[in-house]
Formats: sequence, C-alpha cells, structure tokens
Amino acid sequence: MSRSKWRSERLSQLGSSIFAEVAGWKLSAAESGLDIIDLGIGSPDQPPSPAVRQALSEAALRSDMYAYPATKSGLPFRRHAAAWMKHRFNVELDPMSEIVTLLGSQDGLAHLALALCDPGDTALLPNPGYPIYAASLALAGVESVLMPLREENGYMPDLDALPDEEWDRATFILLNYPNNPISAVADLAFFERLLDKARRHDVLIVHDLAYSEMGFDGCEPPSILEIPGASDQAVEFHSLSKSFNMAGCRIGFLAGNKTAVGALRELKANIDYGVFDPVQEAGIIALQEAITGPKLPKAGKLYEQRRNTFLEALRTEGWDVAAPKATMFVWAQLPPMQWSQDVPWTSRRISQEMLKATGVVVVPGEAFGSEGEGYVRIALVESEERLKEAARRIGSFIRGQ
Ligand SMILES: *Cc1c(COP(=O)(O)O)cnc(C)c1O
Repeated sequence: MSRSKWRSERLSQLGSSIFAEVAGWKLSAAESGLDIIDLGIGSPDQPPSPAVRQALSEAALRSDMYAYPATKSGLPFRRHAAAWMKHRFNVELDPMSEIVTLLGSQDGLAHLALALCDPGDTALLPNPGYPIYAASLALAGVESVLMPLREENGYMPDLDALPDEEWDRATFILLNYPNNPISAVADLAFFERLLDKARRHDVLIVHDLAYSEMGFDGCEPPSILEIPGASDQAVEFHSLSKSFNMAGCRIGFLAGNKTAVGALRELKANIDYGVFDPVQEAGIIALQEAITGPKLPKAGKLYEQRRNTFLEALRTEGWDVAAPKATMFVWAQLPPMQWSQDVPWTSRRISQEMLKATGVVVVPGEAFGSEGEGYVRIALVESEERLKEAARRIGSFIRGQ
C-alpha cells in the first residue's frame, strides 16, 4: 500500500467507507431537488428534558464552570452514575474506582483497545458490529476475531463455535445488547453463559449498553453487572446520548472492573481533561430525574410507537419486516423487489437506488460487516407522519413504479 504524505495508513482502516458513500448519495439526491427523509443516522431527534436544559444553561452562566474539569475530578457525576446504576439495575459500584466519566461512550470505545492491549493482541468482535469497535482495534494495532451474529441463533454469537485457542488468545470480547444495528436483545441467561466462558479463558467482557432505556413492549434490557461478581470479569459502557437525548452533549461512562476502568482513566488523563462541567451538571439532573424525578416516559416509548406505525405502513406496501424489541433501528431483510432482476439486489444497490428514486436514506447492512449483507438499517428518527410518507415512497420503489 502506498503511503501518502501527512495522512497515516491507519486512517484507511477506520470505519467503513460506505458511510461516506451514503453521504455522497444523499448529497446528490438533495441537489437533484428530492425531498430527503434521512433514516440513516442514529442520532435522537428529540431534545433533553426541560430540567436538563435548564441545568445546562444555569451552569454555563456560572463563572466557576470554566476550569479544566479534571482538576476537580468530577466526583458528583460519578456518584450520580453509581446511584442510577443502583436504582436501575440494583448494581453497587464504587464511584471512585469503578466508574470513569467519558466524552460520550464513543470516546471510551475508541480508546479502549489502546488502554487494554498491546499491538499484536487480539479481541473478539461481533459481525455485524458498530463501526467504532473495529476502528478502536485498528488504532491500537490489535487483531480482531469476528463472531457472526445470525438470525438462526437469535443474533447472539455462538460462544462454543469459536475454538478454545481463540478464546485463550483474546484480551477482551465486545458485545452490544440491545444491539446496533440489529436491535436484538440479550437476557441474563445469555450473559451468565458468556461470563462463565469468559472466566474460563480469562477474557474481559466489554458490554456496550447504549440502548438500556430503549426497550419496547415492557422490555427492560439488563446490565451484565447485575450478575453477582460480574465486575471481576466485565465492564459496561453507558451513554446519556440515547437514554436522555443528550447526544450532542458528549457524556457517558464506563463501569465495572477496576483494572480496566483504571486503565482507561489513566490513558484519558493523558488525552483530555474531562467533560465540560455544565454538561456534567446537566447529566446529574438527567440521572436524578430518572431516579426520583417526575415520571417521564422512557426514551424507548417514542420509538416503540414509531416502530408500530412504520412497520404497519411498510407491511401495507408489501414489505413485511421483523419488529425490533429495542433501540431506534429496524434491521430489515431486503424487500421483495418486483422489478429489474438483471443485477443482484445487494444491500448497497438497494440503498443507493432507493435513495435516488425516493429520497429516503437507509444504511446498507454491509456497512457494519460482511454478515450485514442482505439487510438494511432504518433509523426511526423522524415523526410518524414522515415515516408513513417514507413507507409509501419505499412501496412504490419496491413495486418499480
Ligand atoms: C450511539 C452509540 C454509541 C455512542 O454513544 P455516545 O455515548 O454518544 O458516544 C455507542 N454504542 C452504540 C452501539 C451506539 O449506537
């Protein structure tokens, strides 16, 4: 591979180029005058609660909020994070040693392999998977071993399919339930089996629980830390982005195993000086509201209604899609295309042609790894009216009208 001046080769290993491609398709479609309905992005379209916005504004007006946050250590936020973990999952954590505050969980995910591994180590990743997982390994020169998530296994990895040598070699295994992009949910029985396997091979479990508050139909996604003693072998990422509509604020935390939490804290102490204090104040209010505040509907409620409306509309249009149990994503098997069978309808081709014809943006499943082929990811990040409109346009596209 040729190396260009002032641009590392490493950058080419970060993320999938398909996301850039989709952005290009979207731009051309917008320039051609199409009304764009963007169901490609995974950012909540709602604001945080009024109390959270109030707290952020008031803190921003104070004159003592502008020092480097790290110099004040951010203990109040971590205390509230611990209190929320206790309230929500009945998990006891020491805010000093078992929680590190992050500039969004993405920050922690991106730096995780650098903090835990040395070049040449290996880690186990899901395929398909959220793109930063593989990027984190690429940054650290860590090798990935991919575990397919397939429908026939309920989109769980087959823990015994991987040879014992791979388990023994791995530093950590990274999983994410409720899952992005697949929106599958894991139960505690699965986490217990995983923990048992990880203990036997001394592999750290890293669980990304960004969608804990986005379960549907009464589902309350569990934390792996609920299992007694799990902190010996596991850490878990939490994010206020999806749970409390604070994606732009950049705040989250890693909780669990002291050694791993400490390693990430140590690395980050060299890289950044913490989360802006007014954002920490706003985060505290969000957590407090969830614990003792007025009963606000969980973030998932809105997406559950949108899911119902959208899937019903799609069904009417001839595309029957499995209903997600959580998250804000529909992981849809490619629709029955009723025209033009000359070239195979890959997830990439369908996404591109659909966008060109209808202005509706979806992400090809392939963007999340080879196992994503045959699917597209549709984000429920528009109003029910716009989702119905998107379904109507998709229907015409499927029928070749
Ligand atoms: C959105 C998302 C994140 C990142 O959340 P931030 O806390 O905003 O960085 C992490 N993991 C998954 C699976 C996500 O979808």
